Amino acid sequence: TEFITVSDLADLMGVKANEVITTCMNLGMMVSINQRLDASTIELVAEEFGYEVEFVDAEEAIEEIQLEEDDPEDLEPRAPIITVMGHVDHGKTSLLDYIRKSHVAEGEAGGITQHVGAYEVQTDDDRPITFLDTPGHEAFTAMRSRGAKATDIVILVVAADDAVMPQTIEAINHAKAGGVPIIVAINKMDKPGADPDKIKQQLAEYDVIVEEYGGTNQAAEVSAMTGDGIPELLDKVLIEAELMELKANPDRTADGVVLEARVDKGKGIVANILVQNGTLEVGDAFVAGPCFGRVRAMENEHGNRVESAGPSVPVQLTGFDDIPQAGDKLVVLEDEKKAKDIANQRQQIRREQELRKSKHLTLDDLSRRL
Ligand code: GDP
Ligand code: MG
Repeated sequence: TEFITVSDLADLMGVKANEVITTCMNLGMMVSINQRLDASTIELVAEEFGYEVEFVDAEEAIEEIQLEEDDPEDLEPRAPIITVMGHVDHGKTSLLDYIRKSHVAEGEAGGITQHVGAYEVQTDDDRPITFLDTPGHEAFTAMRSRGAKATDIVILVVAADDAVMPQTIEAINHAKAGGVPIIVAINKMDKPGADPDKIKQQLAEYDVIVEEYGGTNQAAEVSAMTGDGIPELLDKVLIEAELMELKANPDRTADGVVLEARVDKGKGIVANILVQNGTLEVGDAFVAGPCFGRVRAMENEHGNRVESAGPSVPVQLTGFDDIPQAGDKLVVLEDEKKAKDIANQRQQIRREQELRKSKHLTLDDLSRRL
């Protein structure tokens, strides 16, 4: 592996790039100013200037944090995180809307006013469930392609008056590929043509086998219009969550995932974050993909400022140096300098990958022209 360029090495040692080039020449190497040097060359050159080299990988700071094991006693149950998927027009948005309006936590008079990418609802017996508020497959796959897992359970919506359709099958495949359990919501039960048995049979062909057919997938018959069956659906979500023993340690340094990010005219860069472990606090330094920052302010889905956010809690966060992407993992670090180092290292790697790609393109273009 190659590390830094001739000019970076010169900067680090406080000498001119030409001096490094000359030293390399004396050591029998012809190098250019932007050339990357391998470890042994860096050591040789640095020695000529009276330096000793220590190689540090910025990412190690993150690895260290992630290797820290939680004391089982510190683990507490956390809300399950749900993504709603299914074929177009089968009622994903209607279901999310109904749940959002009907299950807002008590004492939140204003309801859910703020778009923070997800929201927490409370079942009738006061247990929390977090819903990602953009249904759909793209968000789910975008997350997964960045190595993020932001969903514990998929609710698969299938319209009882329709059938298993291409996007139903796609959703099943995504959930299975991600190892995420599926709970079926057979929707539009209020409609005259509703035939839930037909849907269950069709699902079985795709290895989604409901309990009454001897399988392990829970199913609820619902209407997103009347609300019928929705409390039962939420109960089933909680039963599944209990089986999964979803737990987190609120006492450790936080990590989470970026759900989406944008530039706001007044606030600057805002990102919707789902905290996955630990507790995120105002003032925390963090890295998220190739971006870094310090938590300036956080708002919850009710539009209220919060000082901290624990596991499975979605917040809108300001304090980024640059716009992160959905699926970027956010990790809190003890100091901003470390966060910046990691972000810089990632940016550099990304730039080089892009450069390599563009070089490939040029070669390709050339050969096409020949
Ligand atoms: P999405 O594409 O999966 O998000 O589906 P929508 O939520 O936009 O719903 C598509 C259409 O079906 C809309 O006209 C809804 O009003 C209607 N719809 C959704 N759920 C139900 C339901 O339970 N019963 C009835 N009768 N109509 C529904
Ligand atoms: Mg929709």
